Amino acid sequence: MRIGIAGISHEALTFSPVSQALEDFRVLRGPEILGYRGLGDAARALDIEPVPLLVAQAHCPSGVVEERAYLDLRDEMLQRLHDAGPLDGVCLILHGAMLVEHIGSGETDQVRMVRAALGRDIPIAVRLDPHANLTEEFANKADTWACFRTAPHRDQAETLHRTLGLLAECVRAGRRPRPVFIRVPLLLPGERATTAVEPMRSLLAMAREIEALPGILNAEVLIGFGWADTWHAGASVLVTARDEDHVPEARRQARRLAQRMWDERERFTFDQQVARSADEAIDAALRAEERPVFIADSGDNPTAGAPGDSTHVLARLVARRVPDAVVAGFPDPAAAHACFQRGVGGTVTVDVGGKLDTVHGAPVRMTGTVEHLHRATAPEDVNLATLRANGVRVILSDRRYTYHGPDDFAKAGIDVLAHKLIVIKLGYLMAPLREIARREILALTPGFADMELTRLPYRYVTRPVYPLDVEMRWHPIITNTAAYGEA
Ligand SMILES: [Zn+2]
Repeated sequence: MRIGIAGISHEALTFSPVSQALEDFRVLRGPEILGYRGLGDAARALDIEPVPLLVAQAHCPSGVVEERAYLDLRDEMLQRLHDAGPLDGVCLILHGAMLVEHIGSGETDQVRMVRAALGRDIPIAVRLDPHANLTEEFANKADTWACFRTAPHRDQAETLHRTLGLLAECVRAGRRPRPVFIRVPLLLPGERATTAVEPMRSLLAMAREIEALPGILNAEVLIGFGWADTWHAGASVLVTARDEDHVPEARRQARRLAQRMWDERERFTFDQQVARSADEAIDAALRAEERPVFIADSGDNPTAGAPGDSTHVLARLVARRVPDAVVAGFPDPAAAHACFQRGVGGTVTVDVGGKLDTVHGAPVRMTGTVEHLHRATAPEDVNLATLRANGVRVILSDRRYTYHGPDDFAKAGIDVLAHKLIVIKLGYLMAPLREIARREILALTPGFADMELTRLPYRYVTRPVYPLDVEMRWHPIITNTAAYGEA
């Protein structure tokens, strides 16, 4: 069974002024894709032959993708699909929240073009992140999709395996599945919908129960990506019928799942300590007996697509002369370059941050000692400079970069366990940091990824939508025609 493997993934925070260019993608072509996490094991276990085409992933999320960059990648992907010879199915590896300038939903466009190339009879399954905003057209042209069931995410490989398993099952059975899709008018920051706590835990348990029913292929709960000011932003559910005969049952179950998600809308909340401001977070961290304490500068979270160089928290640390803090980090090529020029042990004066995000704080002038330099060792690596001014250490990078675990700090010469306070540009801590943080404080800082969605200037999202319209009423409506047997 020959399964094409392809897809371009990205997550677009529309409020960000930083667009995504071609060089901001890591592109795997042909055999390079065979090393993709989980693919080899899944292919062997499922006895399928992966036909690797093109897989592109953003180094770091941002604002919308530049049209030319997207079209270059998409057209190469389609050419490789054309050249691949007969396929039994296609598995797309997508995120779900890509937006392309002048085109809109990048996932919808990819499914539309791949469907046009394959014709009606070859199934398409999609591996998604649950922070996906899907459209009706997507839900009519893809046969099914599976998304991660953990947030923070730790089941990427399993989800790819699951997606390929669903696809292989459909091909072997010779039946076309029928996805039933319901959009739930709910905008969520991912931090309010982590999966180890309620209500996501129960919603995922309900999806698993539905999935075990006869005639149901899979059931998914999509949190959506709330920081996208676009008509189709929001949560959704999917229940896929194994075939035409089971569509009525899938429709019934999808309505139950969507209604339950809607009924829980006021219960989505943070699973860590929350501080209303940077100062409140710093006070709480300094008072804490534990170490290290992590403060997430959540309004400027680059893993959600924010620029990552807002100086809002850094300015407070410097003004308050905090005795021991690490800030990870600032994408600031000019400041990093100045440190490399001076060398370890040298003294420099640089203006840090405030260059991509010019709204949430001016550059902060710092005079300090260059403590550590890390030179990139591979094309995907980054140059890092660690600058110390009094008790505050900042990590400067030559491009946008995200700090997921202790290894990223080690590269910058920092042992996180040796410090009292770590300020990080993130929302929830990624799993490797959660394991070592003795305390985690989410600071509701201002920024383009503001956790308080009602503070953001939405213009294009479909209204009414919760929580922008608190008083709204809603009941589940199935919105894709495939669920009516009409597509
Ligand atoms: Zn995600």
